[in-house]
Amino acid sequence: MKKFLLLTSTLLFLTSCLTLFPQPQASPTPPASPTQSQTIETDLSIFNDGLNPIYHPVIDTLSSASLYQLDFVIADDLYHITGKETVNYTNNEDVPLNEVHFRLFPNILGGEMTVENILVNGVSVQEKYKLNDSLLIVPLEKPLQVHESVKISMDFAMTIATSVDLNYGVQAYDSNVLALAHAYPMIAVYNHEGWNSEIPPQSGDVIFADMSFFVVTVDAPSDLVLVGSGRETKHEENGNRQQVRYEAGLVRDFYLTGSPNYQEFVREVDGVTLRFYTDGDYKAGVEEALNFAEESIKIFNGRYAPYPYTELDFVSTPTLALGIEYPGMIAITEWIMDPQIGYLEATVVHEVAHQWFYNLVGNDQLDEPWLDESMAQFATLQYFTDRYSEDGYFEFLSELEGRWFYIGEEKIPVGLPVRDYSDAEYSGIVYGRGGLFFIALEEKIGSENFDTFMKKLCNE
Ligand SMILES: [Zn+2]
Repeated sequence: MKKFLLLTSTLLFLTSCLTLFPQPQASPTPPASPTQSQTIETDLSIFNDGLNPIYHPVIDTLSSASLYQLDFVIADDLYHITGKETVNYTNNEDVPLNEVHFRLFPNILGGEMTVENILVNGVSVQEKYKLNDSLLIVPLEKPLQVHESVKISMDFAMTIATSVDLNYGVQAYDSNVLALAHAYPMIAVYNHEGWNSEIPPQSGDVIFADMSFFVVTVDAPSDLVLVGSGRETKHEENGNRQQVRYEAGLVRDFYLTGSPNYQEFVREVDGVTLRFYTDGDYKAGVEEALNFAEESIKIFNGRYAPYPYTELDFVSTPTLALGIEYPGMIAITEWIMDPQIGYLEATVVHEVAHQWFYNLVGNDQLDEPWLDESMAQFATLQYFTDRYSEDGYFEFLSELEGRWFYIGEEKIPVGLPVRDYSDAEYSGIVYGRGGLFFIALEEKIGSENFDTFMKKLCNE
């Protein structure tokens, strides 16, 4: 995610901006009940086509990662959604597990999500809820032993928020754009802390997730231009409805957006298909954004590791963040699509950097945001340096220094959880001082050692 420096005034400015876009007067139709007709996929080789060939062996290494099958039905009003989920979950930890934790994010993002018919290996179980119903605890009849697998299925229904007020509007239907981030019962990470579940602070990213595989079908009104994580492998039109299938893996999340106003702009770079979906009015911004994406992928491919996927999709949304990263997808807020505003390059490059730092190299985004955000800021500095030499270095260095200066260069540690920072501190420390830390580290150990360290971090 890329945050704006002067947070409060920006939010006010954006709120007034958003009223420029009229809401459609759709006549709501109740969504049909989804059907999960096919059994869950087990042949993981279908995910090869979405990965850079050098990562194909990783599918075997991570073959016990969670495999989700999701079937969404989006109603004509676009913010009522029903679905079915079946997930093959393997205990990849070192202790037996008595339960599996799922996050129900709509319940804390201004909408609502309910689940029913929860089955564990076909047997009905009695679930529990915590954290304002954003945590669903599915009990297991007997402890799931290390390396043992279980199949969990459930039906769900959602009402999506119709404003972008909460958590930057990551999950909202607003201004004719449906943004569905983390909009399915999502398995939390189990690690040395146990199950990682908390209500995320407003200022940071929402999820901490393991690499997984997704097979997703979407049944939606046919005038909606849909964009989803991974590859679109089927598209059928049936009257005023469409059915689309996506295959995404290995990814930490499945993201879906749609808008009747999206136009597609495509470019190829080094074996990666870049697509930008936005209103045609933003065409000038699209060309610039794709240039920045192309150059940053080339730089990061060379410096860190090859970009993992065969596709990278950009979507413009009314999010209150400047940009938000998803695996193989990036949301860019609409108002910076005007290149004159000057935020587009640093935002695009920062979000592209997250494809390496957050996605390829995973971290706990709630407890250790510096490992993805400060690193993405430093990667952006490396891009500006490689592309524009000294001028570029000093231009982005002043961005990092400016953020820290804004909070009086307070010597607050860089490595705190999101919840321990105020909004201003989160911007000043994690997006400012954290980037400066990596500059200091490079100076301390020398450029050659530092470059080797970055390569090892991304390749091992
Ligand atoms: Zn970020």
